[in-house]
Amino acid sequence: GQLGASQAGLVTAHFGRQVEVEALEGELLGQRQRCHVRANVDSLVTGDKVSWRPHLLPDESGVVESRHDRHSLLARPDMRGVMKAIAANVDQLLLVIAPEPEPHANLIDRYLVAAEHTGISPLLVINKWDLMEAGRLDAVLVQRVEQLLVTYRKLGYQVLISSTQRQQEDLQQLQEHLKDRISVFVGQSGVGKSSLINLLLPGVDLRVGSLSEDTRKGRHTTTTARLFHFPVGGQLIDSPGIREFSLGFLQPDEVAQGFCEFRPYLGHCRFRDCRHQQDPGCALREAVEQGHIAASRFNSYHHIVKSLQEAD
Ligand code: GDP
Ligand code: ZN
Repeated sequence: GQLGASQAGLVTAHFGRQVEVEALEGELLGQRQRCHVRANVDSLVTGDKVSWRPHLLPDESGVVESRHDRHSLLARPDMRGVMKAIAANVDQLLLVIAPEPEPHANLIDRYLVAAEHTGISPLLVINKWDLMEAGRLDAVLVQRVEQLLVTYRKLGYQVLISSTQRQQEDLQQLQEHLKDRISVFVGQSGVGKSSLINLLLPGVDLRVGSLSEDTRKGRHTTTTARLFHFPVGGQLIDSPGIREFSLGFLQPDEVAQGFCEFRPYLGHCRFRDCRHQQDPGCALREAVEQGHIAASRFNSYHHIVKSLQEAD
């Protein structure tokens, strides 16, 4: 009977059947409370907007009454290959790459396809740009990375360069892109995601997956996704699972749709079931031959389709 009025909240973490909710309005604005979830509420993930009733005593549990509609959902296959939701309402996928470790040819495209498919805007960040200018890297590699920048900008994707060594200017540009939205960081291990996040979230201990101020209260830590506020605005949802988030199981035509520059040609192949390989009258292949589609992206498409079929 100690519950306050029903109001809007944001799920910032979850612990089994319980969630942590942050008040989005009212006197409690910005405060967080553990909540029970009514049995009729669909399963919740970090980033979900909910209607909840806070407990009037801050250390007691509030109650989540309903979940609002989601505008995006990140999911990944679990050990049995079943897709499991990991974060809701993510606006932006920060795809971090670096000259070291060298970017895999189709890794970027895999993430871009996943972003297109989930309706989350991708932002490509080429980190460790200091290495590009240090004169230590192989010239061919430097050229390749510069070419990636050109290729993806030409396709209409936003590409930023960053360095956690040089900081400031690069970081400010990145911060501008993080404002007013919920972002996730993804990319290969070793590209500098933790380093970037540590600079952007000073004082937050990500390793234990909990805010340092929370450990004071002896709260349980969790390895599930958590939501953090950047001091300059915008939010981050992060967890080890999210960083490794990759493509779910898509059909070849869904993969093709994820290559934005393919779209004008899709549906124009001679055969409806064209596999865009040696099929006669393939509109995509013709577009590659005429230089409208980069051969590297076309190869990447085939690579992704093949790997998805092998995973089946
Ligand atoms: P993560 O696996 O993506 O989280 O990568 P980490 O943040 O752990 O970084 C991997 C390594 O790259 C560490 O040794 C970092 O110090 C280094 N590193 C991160 N960012 C940069 C950068 O901008 N420039 C250089 N030269 N090294 C960096
Ligand atoms: Zn075709």
